[in-house]
Amino acid sequence: MLSLEAIDVYYGKIHALKGVSLSVDEGEIVTLIGANGAGKTTLLRTISGLVRPKNGTIRFRGEDLTRRRPEDIVALGISHVPEGRRVFANLTVKENLEMGAYLRRDRAGIQADLERVFALFPRLKERLRQPAGTLSGGEQQMLAIGRALMARPKLLLMDEPSMGLAPVLVQTIFGIIREINAQGTTILLIEQNAHMALGVARRAYVIETGRIVLEGPSEALRQSEKVRAAYLGG
Ligand code: ATP
Repeated sequence: MLSLEAIDVYYGKIHALKGVSLSVDEGEIVTLIGANGAGKTTLLRTISGLVRPKNGTIRFRGEDLTRRRPEDIVALGISHVPEGRRVFANLTVKENLEMGAYLRRDRAGIQADLERVFALFPRLKERLRQPAGTLSGGEQQMLAIGRALMARPKLLLMDEPSMGLAPVLVQTIFGIIREINAQGTTILLIEQNAHMALGVARRAYVIETGRIVLEGPSEALRQSEKVRAAYLGG
C-alpha cells in the first residue's frame, strides 16, 4: 500500500533520514520505534508532504507521492495525527472534527463518520460545544485521532499517541488503535513506548539516528537482544 525507497531528508546540514526504505501493506499495523531525535516525526512529516525529501521515492496505492502537496496527500487517503495533540484550542470539539472533513462534500458520509468517532470516543460526544483547549490531555489526544478519522483515511499515520498519558489511558488509546484497524484502516504508528507498540503491531522497524537498523515481525523484534537492551528495559 505504502512504500518508501531510499529516502534522504536534510534540515540544512543535518542529515535527518538516511536512505530510509519501509513498506506498509493494506490492513496492517506497522510500528516504527526509536529514541528521541532518531527521525520518527520527520519520517511521518515526509510521508504527509510537510517535509521534502532530497532523494528517494514514496508510493501509495500506485501513486507517486514524492512531490505532492499535503492536501493532495490527504485527498488520496492519508491522515496524520500529529505529536503533542495539536488541536485547534479556540474551536469547539465539533468544529475540530469538522475541520478533519474539510476536503469532503458527502454530507451523509460525514455524518456517518461523526457517529463512528462518537462510538469510539463517547467522551467527545459529551463535550461537543466545549473549546478544545479546555479538554484534558487524554481527551485532546482522542480529538486529534477523531479529527484525522473524519477525512476517512485508508492509511492513518500516528505520532506517539501515548505520549504524556497516564497508564490507564495508554491502554485505552491502544485499544482504540486496534479497533480502528479492525474497522479497516491501515496504521503506521511511531512510538517511544516500544513495549505497547510491539504488542499492537504486526511488523516493526527500529530507527537510530536517521537509519533503519532492524526490521521484522514484532514478535521477533521483541526477542532480539538489541531491542530488549535498548528499548524494552533489558
Ligand atoms: P522525538 O521522539 O524526540 O520527537 P524523533 O525521532 O521524532 O524525536 P525528529 O523530530 O524527526 O526525531 O528529529 C530528527 C532530527 O532532525 C533531530 O536531530 C532534530 O533535532 C532534527 N530536526 C527535526 N526538525 C528539524 C527542523 N525543523 N530543523 C532542523 N532540525 C530539525
